[in-house]
Amino acid sequence: MTSLFGEPRPLDGSDLARFGGWYARPSKPDVTWAYCPRCDAAFQLWEDPGTGKQTLFTWRRKVEELVLDIGDQAKVQDYLKYDWNVIQANMRHGVRSFLQGRFSKKQGCPNDGGKIPLVAQLPYEPNATVCFYWCVYCSELFAYLMDKDYGWQCVASFTWDKEKSQFVLRKKDGKKANLDLIQERAVGLQWGEGIRP
Ligand SMILES: [Zn+2]
Repeated sequence: MTSLFGEPRPLDGSDLARFGGWYARPSKPDVTWAYCPRCDAAFQLWEDPGTGKQTLFTWRRKVEELVLDIGDQAKVQDYLKYDWNVIQANMRHGVRSFLQGRFSKKQGCPNDGGKIPLVAQLPYEPNATVCFYWCVYCSELFAYLMDKDYGWQCVASFTWDKEKSQFVLRKKDGKKANLDLIQERAVGLQWGEGIRP
């Protein structure tokens, strides 16, 4: 069974960056959509919850526009009655806002989505920096690295250890991040640099 959330991922297997979906609609199939910035391609997976029948659609960038693959075009007519046009507009809007916002320094808390302030930007590897954001509600410090395709990505989080009087690693997410270096930077951060309980 195919799933845009798991393996195998479509085309080159890269992580998909942007998701949306409509589920549990009375007598209409479920639909999930997602975008791969490396392939500059968008996907929709339609699934009939009753029969489990799945249909995958792929759009790829041609000049300016994301264009539905020729091989997928004949399948569209079966889905027109299930809000096809609205869903396609939603997907395109999602891709556009991802592309416009991916390099923005404004971030939402990975736990609760609330706005989190940038509290430090420190040297990382050559020509790169690591950005730290503080969520006052979660009391959690988040480290972000820039990826040329995905934009700013949260790679690790830290909590304050009272006994050690420093930040300690809570969660890591990055497969390729230099966590020792990020941790070293986080340990250097103290209360008061925009970081408050
Ligand atoms: Zn939070």
